[in-house]
Amino acid sequence: MLEVFFLGTGGIMPTRERNVPSIALRYRGEIVLFDAGECTMRQMNTAKLSPMRVDKIFITHFHGDHYLGIPALIQTMNLWNREKPLHIFGPKYTFQFVQNLLNSGFFRPGFDIHVHELGETRLKFGDYEVWSFKVEHGIPALGYVFKEKDRRGKFLKEKLVEYGLSEGPILGKLEKEGQIERNGRIIRLEDVTGPRRKGLKVVYTGDTKPCERVRLFAERADLLIHEATYLNPKDRGESYHSTVEEACETAKRAKVKLLALFHRAFRYSYREYVEEALQICEGLGVNAVVPKDFDVITLKSGTWELKSILEEKQ
Ligand SMILES: [Zn+2]
Ligand SMILES: [Zn+2]
Repeated sequence: MLEVFFLGTGGIMPTRERNVPSIALRYRGEIVLFDAGECTMRQMNTAKLSPMRVDKIFITHFHGDHYLGIPALIQTMNLWNREKPLHIFGPKYTFQFVQNLLNSGFFRPGFDIHVHELGETRLKFGDYEVWSFKVEHGIPALGYVFKEKDRRGKFLKEKLVEYGLSEGPILGKLEKEGQIERNGRIIRLEDVTGPRRKGLKVVYTGDTKPCERVRLFAERADLLIHEATYLNPKDRGESYHSTVEEACETAKRAKVKLLALFHRAFRYSYREYVEEALQICEGLGVNAVVPKDFDVITLKSGTWELKSILEEKQ
């Protein structure tokens, strides 16, 4: 199970109803942050997500709406006597940003900050990987894929009986070693398990013009969080952003299961945007949602659910 918390869904500048971008993925107790716009710490407090559970922050690019919340996050971690290191990942200029931050004022965290400047790469972390890919935003900018590792299929009872495997320890050994020898016969894990289960895949574009790399990396994703700043090309003008229709077309071509439209411009009210956006998506046959701040999408293999944390509290 994977939970995607939308801490800030607006773009460019905050409004009364929505904060600037930040997405928190909660997976097996860990919180992984993707972008941290201004006031992300406050949004985390409201969502009851502790920054002490954050070890990794992935920044898409250095426009203020995507990273200015990092100083406050570090400050809070420091106030809470954090000791474990924090890893900040991002495109070119991430080193420079962290260095400038640590040289500003009397800002001295008591824990280590490790900086990782990325191009297109695959990072492996235990049960999941994060892949970075280049997008088109006029400045160095990355999108990210969070990919849960594929898991083995379920043990098949009838196969276990057939091979005479019933004891727990022998199954543990089979799982660990991939194969075992029993009465002179080799039994492989695949012989007694069903088809492998695909790990969940969530893709976040950050800010970008429509871009072929997104389609490639979002292939068959469970969730594509695509920026869709504008409702139409006229509003977008020459800026390096996407329209709803362009985000939908990419989602359709990549055969994603669910599209979340993100980073809508402050000029649109939620109601105005959501009505038109969902109509466009429906017209293209794309399964889409427009998350508000504090909405959470819970993904399990093959299913998803969207709920607001705020409504839950009432
Ligand atoms: Zn932005
Ligand atoms: Zn931007």
